[in-house]
Amino acid sequence: MNLLIMGPPGAGKGTQAETLVKKLGITHISTGDMFRSAIQAGTEMGLKAKEYMDKGELVPDFVVVGMVKERLSQPDCARGFLLDGFPRNVVQAEELDETLKSIGSSLDGVINIVVPREKLIKRVTGRRICRSCGASYHTLFKKPRVDDICDNCGGELYQRTDDNETAVKNRLYVYEASTTPLIDYYSKRGLLRNINGDQDIDKVMEDIFKNICS
Ligand SMILES: [Zn+2]
Repeated sequence: MNLLIMGPPGAGKGTQAETLVKKLGITHISTGDMFRSAIQAGTEMGLKAKEYMDKGELVPDFVVVGMVKERLSQPDCARGFLLDGFPRNVVQAEELDETLKSIGSSLDGVINIVVPREKLIKRVTGRRICRSCGASYHTLFKKPRVDDICDNCGGELYQRTDDNETAVKNRLYVYEASTTPLIDYYSKRGLLRNINGDQDIDKVMEDIFKNICS
């Protein structure tokens, strides 16, 4: 099964994607992970991507499309895949269609996780991460025992630079502007599956399963 998962920052897309690939035994292709490893390795493309991400902007098409094409041609994608974080706009979606066609493949469904805007802002701006061990917390939903201190290791908690309110609002704005046409694009092809993301994590997964298996 070849799937695509979409959802704004803070929609819980990452968690759902992880569960889904395990259950279906398909390959997870996350552009976020691809960027992070390129940034860590300090490659030219990684540094370029970081510049845009720190400002809360999207990484340009030519960088993203190149990375995804290369990834899709690897053998582990033949058993099915879940694309996560790509495509972000109609140009990328068309490129994806072309690429899949050229390898005799196509998409079977597009999962779109929907959450109200105000809730997304609360979810994202509350995230905190431990500087020492990387554990994650939330100022509303997963508070540490002592403010700004990690329960596990006593390390200092910090907020990622792209999780502040201005950057989040900017990301949501950019996300909505570029994905509205994309949602139309997949809706017209009968591939779109809207899922209510404003509910319990397990319930969201249940809804995804009902939708893709029906
Ligand atoms: Zn820690």
